Amino acid sequence: MEILKVNNLVVNYGMIKAVKGASFFVNQGEIVALIGANGAGKTSILHTITGLLSAKDGNIEFEGRDITKTKAHDIVKLGMAHVPEGRRVFGDLTVLENLKLGAYIRNDKAGIEDGLDKIYKRFPRLAERKSQLAGTLSGGEQQMLAMGRALMSNPKVIVMDEPSMGLSPLYVNEIFDIIREIHESGTTVLLVEQNAKKALGIADRAYVLETGNIVLEGDAKTLMNDDSVKKAYLGE
Ligand code: ATP
Repeated sequence: MEILKVNNLVVNYGMIKAVKGASFFVNQGEIVALIGANGAGKTSILHTITGLLSAKDGNIEFEGRDITKTKAHDIVKLGMAHVPEGRRVFGDLTVLENLKLGAYIRNDKAGIEDGLDKIYKRFPRLAERKSQLAGTLSGGEQQMLAMGRALMSNPKVIVMDEPSMGLSPLYVNEIFDIIREIHESGTTVLLVEQNAKKALGIADRAYVLETGNIVLEGDAKTLMNDDSVKKAYLGE
């Protein structure tokens, strides 16, 4: 079943055409990757899906419902959470305070406590540092916190923007292991990455974006063996 569907999406910034009619879908239970170079339009697509930017044209469906004009916090309520590029944790708040912010749509205290327990089990490092200010965490820990914060809303779909950006190879591997675990526990994942090798390594299917257009799509293994993808994105 298609849980997320994007039809002919157009996103402009004034005269700049960032996304020029992109169409793609994510089936429930999949990991789907959007790959592409800097400026290809990946972040613009994610921001439009999560309600942070408006579409100029086209539409977005979540579980069959048109969410093109739905506000960001309502989209979280429907079950889609966003892990933004650059983590965007609140540096002056503690780890625990950041996680609680992720649960702002929930008001069941027991549920929130249970959510926190689950996050601390998945990210022991966050448990150890729950009273520490988020701004003092390492980049990889901040990425974990941003993921944990998104998971606090108990999403059906988690949308991640460049989770590996700026991280050391060791952390990149750890973050991708965590993405796999999140997926295995039943959450559908839409992943935007410049690290095409890692993204294709984990995804079921992928779309290649170039200057606002989807130029290639297919299952991840096929794309990994595609000569043009190898040359342009896998450094082979
Ligand atoms: P990156 O990986 O660098 O974030 P991206 O693939 O996510 O790249 P976008 O950030 O979506 O790409 O950018 C797509 C296009 O839109 C680029 O040409 C970019 O310069 C332009 N753009 C993005 N944000 C703005 C903005 N706020 N104002 C004007 N142009 C923008």
